[in-house]
Amino acid sequence: MLKPGNITCTCCSHHCSLAPHQTGLCRARKNTGSSIECINYGYVTSLSLDPIEKKPLFRFMGGSRILSVGSFGCNLYCPFCQNHSISQRGFDRSECDLLTPEELCALAIKLKESDGNIGVAFTYNEPLTGFEYVRDCARLLKKNDLNTVLVTNGSFTEDVLNGVLPYIDAMNIDLKGFKQDIYDVLGGDLMLVKDFIKNAYPYAHIELTSLIVPSLNSSVEDMRAQSEWIASISPEIPLHITRYFPNYRMTDPPTSIPHMKKLIETAQKYLSYVYPGNI
Ligand code: SF4
Repeated sequence: MLKPGNITCTCCSHHCSLAPHQTGLCRARKNTGSSIECINYGYVTSLSLDPIEKKPLFRFMGGSRILSVGSFGCNLYCPFCQNHSISQRGFDRSECDLLTPEELCALAIKLKESDGNIGVAFTYNEPLTGFEYVRDCARLLKKNDLNTVLVTNGSFTEDVLNGVLPYIDAMNIDLKGFKQDIYDVLGGDLMLVKDFIKNAYPYAHIELTSLIVPSLNSSVEDMRAQSEWIASISPEIPLHITRYFPNYRMTDPPTSIPHMKKLIETAQKYLSYVYPGNI
């Protein structure tokens, strides 16, 4: 039973029941007393003009550069997170710049003129913890003929996805494994991610990334099942299979190159575009 004053956030599988002024597991959404709001709206921790291939997107506007922006917070807690310094922390005003959607869009336009920027990529932390900011910026970007790219873990409900999808041009979505046991370790829900991918595919350019961690998600049989499932949506969906290196709280040795090759060959039996990463 919900305690008086508590509100449940329905954005992801955690369904955080939040007391007034309490922040959710993602550290980015809070019960303000009357509703759940994102507290990372407009707070930018990272800003960089990156090659589109770095997102990674290999089959969307190749050779271009995109203004890439990150905030703080994430609804998963992967022990190997490469961006843990921003994803696994909450609000710290001294570490953020405040950029309204209008200011971010103006910067993107300026960089289009000076450096050929094609739009904005929401990345680095989990952008959908603050989907309201993504939506408001993406609407403005679209009006100005700029692209919006989302780099996401896909662990969000259909309502969250539908709130941003009309304005998104391309996404890279993490598929962190193909068994619920794997998502149990990371704090996610495999079915939610699969639905997110299926629902997004008809409306935006989609590429997927699987980071292969030896002790977690390196099974060849899982890769076969995963690739077969992706192919059932479309064999043309690119899959990036990326090699793990020790990071954050995970100290296991890097994934072996021969094993990476085995996984890549397995995926290639089902998919037209399989890209190795970090090899
Ligand atoms: S988005 Fe954040 S606050 Fe909402 S349910 Fe998920 S972890 Fe909890």
